[in-house]
Amino acid sequence: MIKEKSGVWQSWNDNIKYNYKTLYKITSERDLQKVVKESEKIKFFGTKQSSADIASGVETLVDMTTYNKILSYDDDAMTITAQSGVILGDLLEAIESKGWCIPCLPDINTITLGGALATGTHGTSGKLLSEYVTECSIVFADGTLKRITAEDPLIDAVRVSLGVLGVLSEITFKCEPIYTLHVKEGPENDSEWLPKISERLKKHDFLRILWLPHTDNGYVIIGDKIDPDAEITENLGPKYLKHRRTASKVLYKYSHVYPWMTAIANKILFKAFFSSKKEHKGSLYQATVTKSRGSTIELSEWTIGLDKFPEVFEELKAEINKWSNKSFIHIPMDVRFIQKDSSWLSYAHSEDMVTMGCVSRNAATADTYEAFKSIEKVFLKYGGKPHWGKRFAAKDAELTKIYSKWEDFKVLRKELDPTNKFLNPYLAKIFNEK
Ligand SMILES: Cc1cc2nc3c(=O)[nH]c(=O)nc-3n(C[C@H](O)[C@H](O)[C@H](O)COP(=O)(O)OP(=O)(O)OC[C@H]3O[C@@H](n4cnc5c(N)ncnc54)[C@H](O)[C@@H]3O)c2cc1C
Repeated sequence: MIKEKSGVWQSWNDNIKYNYKTLYKITSERDLQKVVKESEKIKFFGTKQSSADIASGVETLVDMTTYNKILSYDDDAMTITAQSGVILGDLLEAIESKGWCIPCLPDINTITLGGALATGTHGTSGKLLSEYVTECSIVFADGTLKRITAEDPLIDAVRVSLGVLGVLSEITFKCEPIYTLHVKEGPENDSEWLPKISERLKKHDFLRILWLPHTDNGYVIIGDKIDPDAEITENLGPKYLKHRRTASKVLYKYSHVYPWMTAIANKILFKAFFSSKKEHKGSLYQATVTKSRGSTIELSEWTIGLDKFPEVFEELKAEINKWSNKSFIHIPMDVRFIQKDSSWLSYAHSEDMVTMGCVSRNAATADTYEAFKSIEKVFLKYGGKPHWGKRFAAKDAELTKIYSKWEDFKVLRKELDPTNKFLNPYLAKIFNEK
């Protein structure tokens, strides 16, 4: 174990900064138990890619990225066990090399497994990543270690637990045989894609819509499982498409000063980067997960029941199209679909959900980005839930209304961490604690 004295902790996009007194880099479960037991307040972090202020802010920190080994495979059960600081991309490559897959993946591979699970990270057309966990070990505030299986009553609380019940240590995932996805992408008017959601979810194995605010269009991505040897007419679109993120950055450069410029920039970006069709095939990981991003961003994301989505969408669209407010939204708003589960703090607890992302391409000026406030207002009105790892302002008073298990989670948290060892100032406000 390495112990470093005093320094500055910075989130990946520099928006959150804290001084710390001690930073541990751990490599074993025993180290983890020891530092947790001996610290009065402690936070543990992965690759610091959350926009929410949940990973630092106390004197003692643990960098989990050195706790990153793949530990074992069970060929019969098709499971893989890894330490929680493993980078998702490394885990997925190991899984693919066995001819397996996890059937629902987020659009990022640089996060840690522990960070992803803690914040309810998800993809589309499947369940949250945490729902594929069959067993895990967790270090509680008193330093004790508990193994939790899928049958343990604690599992529904632990799967998505914001790092406040304990530190996830070793994690076992249930995998499935790898499959090939035939992906077709292209633009569609809002009046076309919106009414087709339910039908497409039944018909296709993968559905994601990149909504393009201020253009009346979405960019629809559909995937179907095919025989890996099936021939398709590959079309990756014009070569310049790879410059989309750089072009966005340039076009949005002054959009925090003149928000209306966003509407014009979006129309240009739509014509240049979202008006052609594409067709390709590959595994879910290879064909749909972004492997590199040119620059940092700031994110929020809200979730709403599938049946309520069309109404919420129309209200949001009307709201942001009013030139009187300043909620011009950068391209794209990512619309994805998650299947219901039973985890207490999952967005999809007991209900199939639609998630809608909101991005600011200027991370440094995110505090002035009115869109984050507008989307929160509209979604909260309908009982929508915020992504735990992204930016939102709601606290205990709002969260208790939208999560049926919120109060149960609070009681359990207090039982497992009576001295609030795992709460930083942001989380203390979320849980209405000192
Ligand atoms: C570009 C980008 C794309 C993204 N795409 C998606 C997406 O497609 N879908 C989606 O749902 N989200 C997405 N996210 C959000 C992201 O998945 C989460 O913010 C995730 O938590 C980041 O992981 P991390 O390793 O950086 O965790 P950190 O930000 O470092 O930590 C997040 C939380 O996890 C806790 N934590 C870390 N390790 C452990 C552990 N071992 N045990 C318990 N708690 C732990 C920390 O204490 C903290 O509370 C995206 C974020 C970015 C920046």
